[in-house]
Amino acid sequence: MSTINQLVRKNILNLHPYSCARDEFQGEASIFLDANENPYNDPYNRYPDPLQRPLKEKIAAKKDVRPSQIMIGNGSDEPIDLIIRIFCEPSYDNILAIAPTYGMYKVCADINNVEYNSVLLDENFQLDADNLLAAVNERTKVIFLCSPNNPSGNTLSSDEIKKIADNFGGILVIDEAYIDFSPKETWLINLNKYPNLIILQTFSKAWGLASVRCGMAFASEEIISFFNKVKYPYNINRLTQEFIFRQIDRESLKNSWVELILRERPKLQQALEKISFVEKVFPSDSNFFLVRVKDANRLYKQLADKGIVVRNRSNIVLCKNTIRITIGSEEENKKLIDTLISLENV
Ligand SMILES: *Cc1c(COP(=O)(O)O)cnc(C)c1O
Repeated sequence: MSTINQLVRKNILNLHPYSCARDEFQGEASIFLDANENPYNDPYNRYPDPLQRPLKEKIAAKKDVRPSQIMIGNGSDEPIDLIIRIFCEPSYDNILAIAPTYGMYKVCADINNVEYNSVLLDENFQLDADNLLAAVNERTKVIFLCSPNNPSGNTLSSDEIKKIADNFGGILVIDEAYIDFSPKETWLINLNKYPNLIILQTFSKAWGLASVRCGMAFASEEIISFFNKVKYPYNINRLTQEFIFRQIDRESLKNSWVELILRERPKLQQALEKISFVEKVFPSDSNFFLVRVKDANRLYKQLADKGIVVRNRSNIVLCKNTIRITIGSEEENKKLIDTLISLENV
């Protein structure tokens, strides 16, 4: 298996990162005249901690990892982009992913001019590790897996993921944006076993903090040191660092929201399955359902006309005539179902 250094782009390996004014000073001081900050408007006049140390310590304790194994990003989108920029030489290396999956991996690859290849899941959106590994070539630096997967909602087989982790010499990313809604175990417990593993989690879904833009990448200390080298020095502002720090103290509130959503999940599934034009509700370990209907384009418009917006996934591979429906509150789900019933005879 390659060492991380062998996987990193040469220019990144040789990069002299931007040195923050406060990086160079270690110790106690009371007068800061090193960063051209304004002396007034305390504390917002000061640049924030580039390494978000108190926040990482708090997350580390919750997740049972070391603070040095955490990168905090402006949403998960930031680490996704950084992974590509750290490991993939444009016009040379390539990325491999499953299809269908989260669209951001390909967008980031395209922006960075990095070849993106994907391997179809089976008709139940399950992963075949041998199929995926057969598509790996000597220029494949990164594999993106998403589990539970968006837009299908299911968790990928742990045995198949393990096979990939055990046999792929590049960087394996597992995006766990929806892990809080899944009965399956997080891959975080395997972090120390695989030095090439990166786990992505986010505050956007279960924590109800999508507007704040805060995501996490967990990886070996070595990989995190490259994230720290390449990211914008002050990528997480002070307000976000402090706010997320306090939100973590309200974890029981997050858990109660997850419980509410999980209580709605089977109810919504059963109600959807009774709708005449619903052909299949794909099993979900997430806070959404992929639903196959008779005519998704028509249904999308009909719902939009009634002020209900869902995601039309019809143009995606294996998703013909599907819509993706987020599980809302009990009241929202009831309105959705009532509206669908009203459309049965239109
Ligand atoms: C919603 C989602 C995310 C979250 O992205 P943020 O940038 O953290 O809001 C990440 N991955 C997947 C697969 C998602 O569906």
